[in-house]
Amino acid sequence: MPLLEGKNGIIFGVANKRSVAWAIAQAVVREGARLALTYQGERLKENVEELSAKLEKPVLLPCDVTSDSEIEAVFHKLKEEFGYVDFVVHAVAYALREDLEGPFYDTSREGYRIAQEVSSYSLTAICHHALPLMKHHGGSVVALTYLGGEKVIPHYNVMGVAKSALDMSVRYLAYDLGGHNIRVNAISAGPIRTLASAGVSGIGKMIKHHQENAPLKRNTETAEVADAALFLCSNLSRGITGEILHVDGGYSIIGMSV
Ligand code: NAD
Repeated sequence: MPLLEGKNGIIFGVANKRSVAWAIAQAVVREGARLALTYQGERLKENVEELSAKLEKPVLLPCDVTSDSEIEAVFHKLKEEFGYVDFVVHAVAYALREDLEGPFYDTSREGYRIAQEVSSYSLTAICHHALPLMKHHGGSVVALTYLGGEKVIPHYNVMGVAKSALDMSVRYLAYDLGGHNIRVNAISAGPIRTLASAGVSGIGKMIKHHQENAPLKRNTETAEVADAALFLCSNLSRGITGEILHVDGGYSIIGMSV
């Protein structure tokens, strides 16, 4: 039986065909899920509509995660469409480009606020609105994070601080929602070329360093991240919550390159 047969899910964060969220969308539909996708405003609507034509008629909804009313409207619509939700994938991040280069101490107050609001707080806001649709059946929430929230990665700067807050939010949310049998985990993916990562100064160097130094001696692929998301969304991971699962070819275990 397909892993997600009979399950309803929503994925936040598809921008284009390179998006980690898009790889996850294809994987969960392959495994039988009924899916909703959100897109960040009119600018990305056409892209997401075009891509989603390849899936089995997912529900498409606009959602800027800085707007509580838009998040609320998404779950209101899902209540009508699905009745309840089994899994939520949060693959959303943003920081001002100027804050992803140069020294971290140059981060502006506004840049810090934006990175935290979009990349970290949004997970809490989404869980708040998802809870009424998840609490009767239980479910799984999966966020996307990066090693730059645990260790210093040059140029990742304010996004690293936001990822650190996101990782800790995963643990607090896992604690709070565990009583409803809702699990909350994150996948820490190795660096992948996407729209978001293109904003990080020196991303090419990061990817090359990763390939040369990860124990698996290659870069992370979105399909690998998608398979891990599938596992976390499915019953196979029913005993796991509050976990940060590294899907990075083992890069994060290395203390020194030779
Ligand atoms: P992406 O650019 O394809 O996805 C980022 C998404 O965030 C986009 O769909 C964008 O529309 C959305 N977004 C930004 N601001 C938003 C807002 N205000 N409201 C709603 N949506 C908003 O890039 P990606 O690399 O696929 O990123 C997905 C997730 O994976 C992010 O959390 C990212 O940090 C994480 N991640 C990426 C990498 C990598 O190297 N690409 C590595 C580890 C983790």
